Amino acid sequence: MWRGAGRGGVRQVVRCGGCQAAYNVPPADERSLAAHYSAEYFSDFYGGDRQMATVRQQPFLGAAEEHLAGRAGRLLDVGCGVGDLCVAAQARGWSAVGMELSPAAAARAAERGVEVVVGEAADLLAPGRPRPPALSRPFDLVVFRDALVHMPRAAAALAGTARLLRPGGWLALRVPNRHQGIFRAARWVAHLVDASGILHLPVQVFHLDRPALATLLERQGLADVQVVGESEEVAATGGRYSRNPGADLAWRLMVRRWQRRGEPEALWGWGRVP
Ligand SMILES: [Zn+2]
Repeated sequence: MWRGAGRGGVRQVVRCGGCQAAYNVPPADERSLAAHYSAEYFSDFYGGDRQMATVRQQPFLGAAEEHLAGRAGRLLDVGCGVGDLCVAAQARGWSAVGMELSPAAAARAAERGVEVVVGEAADLLAPGRPRPPALSRPFDLVVFRDALVHMPRAAAALAGTARLLRPGGWLALRVPNRHQGIFRAARWVAHLVDASGILHLPVQVFHLDRPALATLLERQGLADVQVVGESEEVAATGGRYSRNPGADLAWRLMVRRWQRRGEPEALWGWGRVP
């Protein structure tokens, strides 16, 4: 779908004919991902006051409560970062646990009153490994907000987290919407400059669109699979995509253009454990 001289040695993004997910070639190196999600990454992009970020979790929590027949439950946020979702959820009556790769981000979340398990989902939830006490009771909801597409061992992470859900519990995955237009744009830009930033290479390992996300959830054996778009005005909420102001502006303009065409920049996939 894309070929170029990407950062981190990614030369191509190819699509699987079976499940329609696209992935990087060569595949990601886990050490480079851990280096990307450094203490500096979290202080640059998730430092300062998190009030607005916490407000932005409300629509998701509202949707989650609808899926659970109108009540708050027990949730696990995989890749919880500095804990915005867990903090917002606890204020609405949820019991929330975070899982986070970065010790720096996990420490910040813990300061905010969030119980966090530090490590990678694929390791923490490997079959046969003793479960940390915070994960011993089943969950009503397991959520990955943009985290899954950054995990080189995504299949193991998903299988492990699905085992934490009670029967009738929900898995919710938020992923960037990697529709055809973004690959076309990246192919075109790659003739002129390094286009890997458009595809968030090398740290985004998988690139999903609506059909690929639905297939992923169905292959986990989940029922009632739904995929819904999410659009938000990032400029208005002060969010940043990139350290480079030019790249940040270009991305926002592109997102706004897609939104006018009805393409949301993110997708939420939901599936229920039968
Ligand atoms: Zn496949």
